[in-house]
Amino acid sequence: MGETVDVAIVGGGPAGMTAALYGSRARAKTVVFETGIPGGQIVSASWVENYPGFPNGISGSDLADLMLKQAQNAGAEFRTLSSVRAIRAKERDFVLTAGDVEVEARAIILATGAIPRRLGVPGEAEFTGRGVSWCATCDGPLYRDKVVAVIGGGDSATQEALYLAKIAQQVHLIHRREELRATQCLREECFLEPGITMHLSQVVEEILGEGGKVSGVRLRSPEDGGEEVLAVDGVFEFVGIDAQSDLVADLCELDKQGFVKVDRNGLSSRAGLYAAGDVTDYELKQVVTACARGAFAVYHALHYLDTRDRKL
Ligand code: NAP
Repeated sequence: MGETVDVAIVGGGPAGMTAALYGSRARAKTVVFETGIPGGQIVSASWVENYPGFPNGISGSDLADLMLKQAQNAGAEFRTLSSVRAIRAKERDFVLTAGDVEVEARAIILATGAIPRRLGVPGEAEFTGRGVSWCATCDGPLYRDKVVAVIGGGDSATQEALYLAKIAQQVHLIHRREELRATQCLREECFLEPGITMHLSQVVEEILGEGGKVSGVRLRSPEDGGEEVLAVDGVFEFVGIDAQSDLVADLCELDKQGFVKVDRNGLSSRAGLYAAGDVTDYELKQVVTACARGAFAVYHALHYLDTRDRKL
């Protein structure tokens, strides 16, 4: 076996970057493996308004850049474009396969986050990248003075609908229930925004297209079965997130939705395997809680290694 690290952090979002910052400051050999570029889901968040220290908010990508610089300044090593393909247990340690390389880790922090869920309706696959999107920051500018639909009723849907309302001519916010799930202030802002038209208790049945791109959505009311077609140029889906926990599915316990079950220290059901951020079953999924949970996880991982070493 070639390389051994103290803590391997899998995933470079806010939880992983904070764990890297704290791990490096504790002088542990800390390496972050990140499939793409660091930042995680916040890179596609148009604006983050509730991360303390930024009274006017900050763009998700700027916040991610700052977190990365801070962790790197502390000495954390980031292996970007380095996808961990497998993790296996080896006695008390773990072996990660990243590309063609195997790295031994004394402890692991899984911070792989979650990915946006698909609606799974006809037309979605066909028009992905041709009008169907999961990222308003990336694709929103394509819809200047056009009409878009945003699907979902949570924080992501409302926040991104507000962002799109600044660009598009009209935003149709479509939610399957009468009441939005989002935080009260986001709900209020959406109702007050003249560029947003609410369609509550409406289910998207199909995404329609013409000439190879999105042309509309077909809605159905679950209450009376009535159908309606809205003409739109783009569809943004924000209908929840799915945990990226496949790597550890055979190593530790997951909940019914696939989120890693962790205790208050971030420890999974297996010694040495910690998890933090959106991949865990922690309820409040925010940037600030992901950061906090990253700090907790690495703190306890190092404490575990320290105790283990002293027992040797
Ligand atoms: P979420 O809170 O799970 O909301 C998903 C929304 O999509 C819900 O309104 C849900 O409807 C709807 N939905 C789910 N499946 C659907 C389907 N098949 N068809 C139609 N609608 C469907 O997901 P999220 O908004 O992506 O947020 C994920 C987490 O990140 C949350 O914990 C959230 O608080 C957090 N977050 C925070 C911020 C912030 O603080 N600024 C921003 C973004 C995200 P129901 O309500 O009927 O279930």
